[in-house]
Amino acid sequence: MTATAILDATPAARERVRIAITGTVQGVGFRPFVWRKATALGLAGSVANTAAGVLVEAEGSPAAVASLLRSLREDAPPNARIARCDVAREPPTGAAGFVIAESVASGARRGAILPDLATCPECLAEIADPASRRYRYPFTNCTHCGPRYSIVRDMPYDRARTSMAVFPMCADCRAEYDNPADRRFHAEAIACPACGPRLALWDAAGRTIAAADDALLAAGAALRDGRVVAVKGIGGFHLMVDARNPAAVARLRRRKHRPDKPLAVMFPSLEALAPYANVDPAEAALLSGRERPIVLLRQGRRALADAVAPGGALIGAMLPYSPLHHLLLGDVGFPVVATSGNLSDEPIVTDEADALVRLGEIADCYLVHDRPIVRPLDDSVVRVIAGTPTVFRRARGYAPAPVEAGLTPGILALGGHLKAAVALTTESGAVVSQHLGDLDTPQGRDAYHAAVADLTRLYRTEPRAVVRDLHPDYYSSRVAAAHSAPVISVQHHVAHVAAVMAEHDLVAPLLGIAWDGTGDGGDGTIWGGEFIRITPSGWERVAHLLPFRLPGGEAAVREPRRSALGLLRATFGDAAFAMDDLAPVAGFTAAERRTIAAMIARGVGAPVTTSAGRLFDGVAALVGLSQRATYEAQAASALETAADACAADVVPYPFPVTADAPMMLDWRPAIRSLVTDVRTARPVSEVAAAFHGGLARAIVEVASRAGEATVVLAGGCFQNARLAAESERLLEAAGRRVFRAHLVPPNDGGLSLGQAWWAAKMECV
Ligand code: ZN
Ligand code: ZN
Ligand code: FE
Repeated sequence: MTATAILDATPAARERVRIAITGTVQGVGFRPFVWRKATALGLAGSVANTAAGVLVEAEGSPAAVASLLRSLREDAPPNARIARCDVAREPPTGAAGFVIAESVASGARRGAILPDLATCPECLAEIADPASRRYRYPFTNCTHCGPRYSIVRDMPYDRARTSMAVFPMCADCRAEYDNPADRRFHAEAIACPACGPRLALWDAAGRTIAAADDALLAAGAALRDGRVVAVKGIGGFHLMVDARNPAAVARLRRRKHRPDKPLAVMFPSLEALAPYANVDPAEAALLSGRERPIVLLRQGRRALADAVAPGGALIGAMLPYSPLHHLLLGDVGFPVVATSGNLSDEPIVTDEADALVRLGEIADCYLVHDRPIVRPLDDSVVRVIAGTPTVFRRARGYAPAPVEAGLTPGILALGGHLKAAVALTTESGAVVSQHLGDLDTPQGRDAYHAAVADLTRLYRTEPRAVVRDLHPDYYSSRVAAAHSAPVISVQHHVAHVAAVMAEHDLVAPLLGIAWDGTGDGGDGTIWGGEFIRITPSGWERVAHLLPFRLPGGEAAVREPRRSALGLLRATFGDAAFAMDDLAPVAGFTAAERRTIAAMIARGVGAPVTTSAGRLFDGVAALVGLSQRATYEAQAASALETAADACAADVVPYPFPVTADAPMMLDWRPAIRSLVTDVRTARPVSEVAAAFHGGLARAIVEVASRAGEATVVLAGGCFQNARLAAESERLLEAAGRRVFRAHLVPPNDGGLSLGQAWWAAKMECV
């Protein structure tokens, strides 16, 4: 026996410890868990929520104290995540009994706020049980499930600081809330039909036409009749219609001004989804997990109304995630379109009075309730790429879970302009806000300012530095100057790469491949097909796509045929404008072609770009898939879908890499081959596959010349599963370690995290 062991074995009558726990430990049943353990072990003391997390004082035999400490690590509730657990010895006080003490509201705000959680199996069983007092009650929840971030007004997480504060508990709920042995012990959102929120169905004018369960039944009947029902859920309103009814779907599209973009669909169950989509095990797990995002799936053998996901596009599928959705979908028994309650590109509507105004032209009736939604939270969107989930839109279920990046607290990163999200570094990690939408509308800008105020208040963190994109015209960039803290600008594609570095805790040197639509290069050109070496002291552009002039600049986003003309002009010179056997050329009149030729020749209204997104657009137009687009990445998605239909083993198009510094990836030989193939009517699927395959090989070629062992794939283009998976596979075969975005979007929704990382690690804020 060693001396230490002998010392440890010495029986001490009593021992007292003070345990400070940080991480995701509030709102997950952590205090009752500690109470049950401590009581069972015969310990005295207390457990309390603090602004930083949870504080435990425990006193008793050393063996019991040791057992409690072990339990904290090994048996914590399923939704808890302990970041730190600091234990300090204190002199015993001789106190008796173990209590759950009042919250301590002072101090730095470090307690992680939990995302909203999908309904748990126990609560589902209760709402289905006619003998339960919560039978068919749409706001049933417990410590394992239910609303969190959508109802929190302030920390620490207590009912008084949530939007449930306006519902005084009834005696039955109070008894459950106070009983440490109950699943609803200190469930802050606890509710029942006697005391909690209530449903109402409003007609188009906002008059109540049914209440409580009758409202639910009437909403189901309206859906069955093909009507558009606005439904207030967890983080905002959905607009719902019968997804099998073509006329109803078309009506919703017309009213919402959304002609083509696929609409999300909520299915009653996984079984009900099966005929409509191909679901692999990773996708099934994601669909039924506690985050319950929209999962992008390939279409199956049975079709929904064609207007739901036109042209064989991916289906955005989700399963019910609140009791309200479970009951409604269970009643109707068919899939319903469940798209965000907003007008295109505006933030989601959260308030029922606002809904009457903003959704007035769209909805036939409104299924509403009286629990206020504290902040807008769209449904998150996820796609499984090469077996791993990749979050495209990060909101309900994911935000505001911190990303572990170990960054200095107090950095506020402002993100980009589209798919905006802000990030704040805190003691609990970097917190990235929920998706806030585009910053072109007054509503979008209001939501953006609210999110900045929200984060700094919830985490009691005054920014010490503010980080923005280089682009001077982004709304977020203009906002930066209004802060008193010093401002740091980070190049767009560098931020894309840094976001992946933050998520995976990577260190320089490495090669970042950032491909997207548009980003300010800082040299007067538009970047978007970039290979960036991150070094311990900075970054270097080691390669990029061959630049071309983009006639019309931003107009090309809506018109892929403009990108095609830019590519053709760069490949064939002015002869391009006479190639009117090609769809994008034929689409312009002779006069328009002359104008475009002059714009490119003079370099007026035709900026220089290296954008990979525009390369994809142009190719989609050349093969005849898409001349005009009504939503982002429409053309590129069509090209990917086409490539996936290719069963043949095709020879990839050539994309030679020049030896200059920076290297250039020359796509002109590929465009020449492609034009020949289009003229000889080669199947579009083969052309699309040869294009993807060629780019993936060019990526490997650049990576091998750059020589870094670690490669990061970043930017919106890597939402293309074919490009991402093929590049990753070939890079790994060539001996590289490859990292992609998983929990934070690869698109501009991840910029703020990358900006924060850059400021903390490279600018030494
Ligand atoms: Zn539950
Ligand atoms: Zn009650
Ligand atoms: Fe971008």
